[in-house]
Amino acid sequence: MTILCYHSVEPDWESPLAVRPEAFAQQMAWLSRSRHVLPLADALPRLDARMRLPSGTVALTFDDGFAALHEHVLPVLTRLRLPATVFLVAQTLTPAGRPVDWVKGAGTARLTTLTCDQVLEMQDAGVDFQSHSWAHHDLTDLSYEECVRDLRASREFLSDLLGREVTQLAYPRGLHDAGVRKAAAAAGYTHAFALPETAEVSGPYAVPRVGIWRGNGLLAVRVKEARPYLPLRTSDPVARSARRVKAVVGKVRARA
Ligand SMILES: [Zn+2]
Repeated sequence: MTILCYHSVEPDWESPLAVRPEAFAQQMAWLSRSRHVLPLADALPRLDARMRLPSGTVALTFDDGFAALHEHVLPVLTRLRLPATVFLVAQTLTPAGRPVDWVKGAGTARLTTLTCDQVLEMQDAGVDFQSHSWAHHDLTDLSYEECVRDLRASREFLSDLLGREVTQLAYPRGLHDAGVRKAAAAAGYTHAFALPETAEVSGPYAVPRVGIWRGNGLLAVRVKEARPYLPLRTSDPVARSARRVKAVVGKVRARA
């Protein structure tokens, strides 16, 4: 009854963002046995007024488009015939590319994102791709015009690359405010996904998802899947640290 949000799946990156491959395979096997895993496009019309999926249904999403998805996620999804959506940072797919500089911490220097060829191969295998903005900026830091420009550029670039209309957006770090939600609509998206740490206002431009992190066992996934609006306090280190950084930056700015 919820939309799950993964980032990477790989053995060597010791980060909350990187679920171990064995854990991931176990989680997917359980979901395929016990739940109806819907393609995101089919899940959207079934969301109730509180943006909750019917009991027994779930949808899978992956943020950032890490290269490790090709090796560690695609074979599992293919074997179990599970639908999933990957949200791509459009600029990473341009000829100039973009380093993964939005993730801080140990072991991040070697991180890479999917190539265009890998994206198209995965799309042929049934994986759905949508937008995670142009450059993974915190959208709440941009002006309204900058935000519309960023989101529209991503939507147009990805629609062109994928050969079909991209209409869904996952906010970088799940962060949004009223201006960002309005910009997402103006840029042509029909839905946008958050990653709330506590209950927040939900709607088509703030569809909540629940993060699955490294170290979460099958039990944690089962609890989270069943209780989408009560995230475990330990479950969201990324959004929490992003908010902390923002609070500090705000204080520094106020002092300057
Ligand atoms: Zn992200």
